Amino acid sequence: MPLPTPPLLTFPTVPLRLPDEAATLDLGAALAKILVPGLNISLTGDLGTGKTTLTRGLLRALGHTGPVKSPTYTLVELYVISGYSVYHFDFYRFNSPEEWHDAGLDEYFSAGAICLVEWPEKAGSYPPPADIDITLQALGEARQVSIRGNSERGTTCLSDLRLPPSVQTGPRAI
Ligand code: ADP
Ligand code: MG
Repeated sequence: MPLPTPPLLTFPTVPLRLPDEAATLDLGAALAKILVPGLNISLTGDLGTGKTTLTRGLLRALGHTGPVKSPTYTLVELYVISGYSVYHFDFYRFNSPEEWHDAGLDEYFSAGAICLVEWPEKAGSYPPPADIDITLQALGEARQVSIRGNSERGTTCLSDLRLPPSVQTGPRAI
């Protein structure tokens, strides 16, 4: 029997519902399938809304088996996996956007690397514009996520995104 076809979405989307941590990990895994070198993804949302969890799902789907630590203290973690260099940033602890310069971060956003950035707003206008914006919010015990293509490259990648069944869509999801 053919497998049911996952819903095709046009982006920007209505918010999606992530009922539990597994759904956040599954969405990360789905995003792992649409990566292209140079893709820059911003992850916005309060503490504890699932930004690091989503990144963990993405990295695990690429084959990373070790821990995925929050880069809150280290600022950046690098994963070289499946032919990609993936930089996971967290600017939460920036006291001012100028710390971007002190840390010499421009060179990380090179053509070939994939960047996932938690708390990009703490770095003001320094980070290059994201190709894909992902915004997470608490929704009771669950989470709500909005995904937006912000560049031609981002929109093209998102047109290939197939949502996993654990991610709830539709008017009754939220
Ligand atoms: P952030 O990086 O945004 O601060 P984390 O990824 O560290 O947040 O996640 C914080 C907590 O939220 C973790 O305990 C994780 O298990 C939980 N969590 C992640 N996604 C969901 C979800 N969809 N529903 C409920 N809890 C979730
Ligand atoms: Mg985090």
